[in-house]
Amino acid sequence: MRIHTDYLTSRRWLLFVLTGVGFIATVIVSRFGLIDQYVELVAMYVGINIILALSLNLVNGYMGEFSVGHAGFMAVGAYGASILSVKVFSSSAGVWVFPLAVITGGVMAALAAVVVAIPSFKTRGDYLAIVTLSFNMIVKSVLENIDAVGGPRGFLGMEKLTTLPWTFAWTVVSVWAIRNFVYSNIGRGVLSIREDETAGAAMGVDTRKVKLHAFVVSSFFAGVAGGLYAHLLQFISPRTFDIIKSTEILIMVYLGGVGSIAGSITGAVIYTVLIEVLRVLGQWRMVIMPLLLVLLMIFRPKGIFGFMEFRWFEPVARKKKDEAVVPYRAAAREQAREQAGELLAINGLTHYFGGLCALSDFNLRLNSGQIMGIIGPNGSGKTTLFNLISGYYRPTQGSVLFNGAEITRMRPNEINSCGIARTFQNIRLFNNLTVTDNVKVGMFNSVNYNAADAMLRTRRFNDCEGKEVSECVRMLLELFALDKYASEAAKNLPYGLKRRLEIVRALATRPQLLLLDEPAAGMNPSETGALMELVHRIRDEFELTIMVIEHHMSFIMGLCQRIQVLDFGVTIAAGAPDEIKSDKKVIEAYLGSSGVSTRRDK
Ligand code: ADP
Ligand code: MG
Repeated sequence: MRIHTDYLTSRRWLLFVLTGVGFIATVIVSRFGLIDQYVELVAMYVGINIILALSLNLVNGYMGEFSVGHAGFMAVGAYGASILSVKVFSSSAGVWVFPLAVITGGVMAALAAVVVAIPSFKTRGDYLAIVTLSFNMIVKSVLENIDAVGGPRGFLGMEKLTTLPWTFAWTVVSVWAIRNFVYSNIGRGVLSIREDETAGAAMGVDTRKVKLHAFVVSSFFAGVAGGLYAHLLQFISPRTFDIIKSTEILIMVYLGGVGSIAGSITGAVIYTVLIEVLRVLGQWRMVIMPLLLVLLMIFRPKGIFGFMEFRWFEPVARKKKDEAVVPYRAAAREQAREQAGELLAINGLTHYFGGLCALSDFNLRLNSGQIMGIIGPNGSGKTTLFNLISGYYRPTQGSVLFNGAEITRMRPNEINSCGIARTFQNIRLFNNLTVTDNVKVGMFNSVNYNAADAMLRTRRFNDCEGKEVSECVRMLLELFALDKYASEAAKNLPYGLKRRLEIVRALATRPQLLLLDEPAAGMNPSETGALMELVHRIRDEFELTIMVIEHHMSFIMGLCQRIQVLDFGVTIAAGAPDEIKSDKKVIEAYLGSSGVSTRRDK
C-alpha cells in the first residue's frame, strides 16, 4: 500500500475536488452568463496575471536572478499562438486549435528562453537585468518590422477563444506544474543558485543545466499567458508587450512575495483588482501603483508572503514503506574498496594571482583511506590548493589526477560528480533552506528522474523522492545527530552545527575524497574534540579519504597520518606528524619554538 507523506494525504484530495468543482463552476457561469461580463473579464485577467507572476517568480524569486523583460517572452507566445490560430489554421478548424495554439506559443517562448539563458551562465544581477531588458526591446523592434503580423499597427483577426474555463484550467495547470518543478531535485538546484551558487556547484549542482531549465519553464508559461491574452483581447501590437508590461509583472511578483507560490497568486490578484478599482483615478493610477510598491519595499521588502508558503503548496513525494533502500554506507564502502590504491595525484601544481605566486610546484600522492593534513601560516596557499583541486581556479601549471583520470580543467560540479566534495573556510550553507533541503541539494546527482518526471509527478519521481532521497537524508541526519533540526532553516543553527551540516551536505554527494577547509575554525576545545571524533567516524564508517586544512595542532597531529606544510606557496616539509613536529623549517616558519601554531599574520 502507498503511504503518503503526512499532512498532505487528505488535503490533496480536497484540492483535487475543489479544482474540479471550480472548473465546473466556471463552465456554468460562463455558459449561462451568470456574472457580469466585466467581472468575468477581470477574472480572466487575474488568471493570466497569476501565470505571468508565477513564471517570473521562478527566475526572480526562486533562482534569485533579476529578469526584467518578461513581457518579451509573453510577446513571443502571443504572436506564436495568434499566427497559428489565424494564419495556419482558422479557429473554425476544431476545438483543438486553441490549446494547440497556446502550447505552440509556450514552446516558441521557451525556445527564445534558451537564447537568454546562455548569457545567464556567466552573468548575474545587474548584467542579467540588462540582457533581459535588451531581449524585451529586441522582440518589440523585430515585431514592429514584420509586416506579415501587422508591424507597428498590430495584429488582429483572432477569435475570442479565451474563456473563463480555459483561463481557469491553464492557471491551475501552471500553478501545479511550477509548484512541482520547485519542489523537486532541479527546483532545489534552482534554490541553491539563489542561496549560494558557488556552494551549489561544489555540491554537484550543474548550474548551467538548472538555469536553462528554469528559464525554459518560466518562459513557456509566459508564452502560454501571452497566447491566452492575445485570444482575449483579439488584438495585439508590439506596444502591448513593452517594458511597462514587464514592470507590471515585476510589481506583482514583488508585491506578493518572492519565492512563494501563494505570494505570486496574491500579488496577481491584488494588483489586477486594484488597477481596476483605481480606474476612477485615470492616469494617476499608474503613479499610485509604483508608489505602493516603493512603500512595500520600505516596510516589507520581501513582499506580502516573502519566502513563506501555504502548506498546501508544499512537498509532495509519496512515500513507499517496507522496501529495502540500498544502504548508503555499504554502497560507499564498496565503492571505496574497489578504488583502493592511489586516489589523488597532484603534479607540479602552480597558481599565480597576477604577479603573486599563491602556490608553487605542489606535488602530492594520496592513497585511499588516508587522512592527510595541510598546514601553514595564513596566506600560504592552502585554500588556493583546495580551490584548484575542486575546480574553482584553473592552475597556471600542473595537473590533478583523480583515480588516474585528469580532472584539472573540469568545472566544480563535474569534479564533485567524480567523487570530490569540499567544505568552505567561511561556512557556505544555503541559509534560507532547511537542514533537510541543504542535504538534499547534495544529492543532486543521485536522483534518476528528470524535470518532466518532476513536473508530472510520475511514478519514477515518487519512488526516488519518497524512497531513496528521503531515506538517505534521514539516515545522514540521524547519524550526525542533526535530525532534531531537520526542518529548521540552516541560518538558525548554532555555529558548531553549521560546520557539521556543511560536512554532512558534502557527504550526501557520495564523495570518495573529502576536502575540509579549517573545519575547527572558531570552535572551542570541546567542540574541536567532538569534531575530531566526527572526522574519524566519517573515515571509518564511509571509508573516505580526507584532506584537512587546520590550525589546531592537536587536531591535526591527532588525526592525520601525513602532513604537508606550506609557506608562501612552497612545500617546506612533508611527512608523519612526529617528523613535522621536530622539523626545523616548520618550527621557524609556523610552529614557533613552543610547538604551537603562531598563525604568523593573524
Ligand atoms: P591560506 O588558505 O593558506 O590562508 P590562501 O590560499 O587563501 O591562503 O591565499 C594564498 C595567497 O593568495 C594569499 O597571499 C592571498 O592573499 C592570495 N589570494 C588568495 N585568493 C586570491 C584571489 N582571489 N585573488 C588574489 N589573490 C588571492
Ligand atoms: Mg585558507
